[in-house]
Amino acid sequence: MILRPLVAGNWKMNGLRASLAEIEAMGAAYDDALRVRAELIVCPPATLIALAREIATRGGLGVGGQDCHAEASGAHTGDISAEMLKDAGASYVIVGHSERRSDHGETDADVRAKAAAALSAGLTPIICVGETRAEREAGDALSVVGAQIEGSLPADAPAHIVVAYEPVWAIGTGLTPTVDDVAEMHAFARERIEARLGGGKSGDVRILYGGSVKPSNARELMHVANVDGALVGGASLTAKEFIGVASAYV
Ligand code: PEP
Repeated sequence: MILRPLVAGNWKMNGLRASLAEIEAMGAAYDDALRVRAELIVCPPATLIALAREIATRGGLGVGGQDCHAEASGAHTGDISAEMLKDAGASYVIVGHSERRSDHGETDADVRAKAAAALSAGLTPIICVGETRAEREAGDALSVVGAQIEGSLPADAPAHIVVAYEPVWAIGTGLTPTVDDVAEMHAFARERIEARLGGGKSGDVRILYGGSVKPSNARELMHVANVDGALVGGASLTAKEFIGVASAYV
């Protein structure tokens, strides 16, 4: 099956209400030709989700959260549940981003529980995996990513989940893997997703590439086999760059 690519913008801890003008501009530039070829979503900080949703919907974009708690509610000061994100207007949530794994010590089991919570709340999880530079240099990229897929995806997850392969050393650094390395990692990820989910589901799972995607390299990266879209950090903060990345599909 040919998957509709997903281009997801991760604003990280960036964005005030004034930044919503960028989402307005993204909607204005998200024309019919692009819409039929790629789905676009923005994941702003939680403080902006409800406001972003209204503006994004007018422009045909979706909205996602950047993280959720594994539990539905309770005594977890400062945390946000998947149901709260859904209630605020999100339809996706990123889980297991490498910055969450490193800053907050999140394990594969934590990520799996968050992905399951997202699915229970009716959100689509974007589950992030990826090796560090040291792991790549040691020749361990495949085994690390294989183990993360095994540990971070709920075994009974449906095919509409999204997996993002994001080599940690490529995030925010301007460095990217070669297209051959991306092809190898994505083909391997598809194989491991099938081993985890079974039933031929992996063919319907969108596997995004993330790590220093920008307008000048998007076309090359997005047309590698088994790359079904992008998770974009820095280049998603402005409409000009984000639409520039998504335009790889037109
Ligand atoms: C990300 O935050 O997931 C990411 C890929 O960031 P950047 O595009 O800035 O490397």
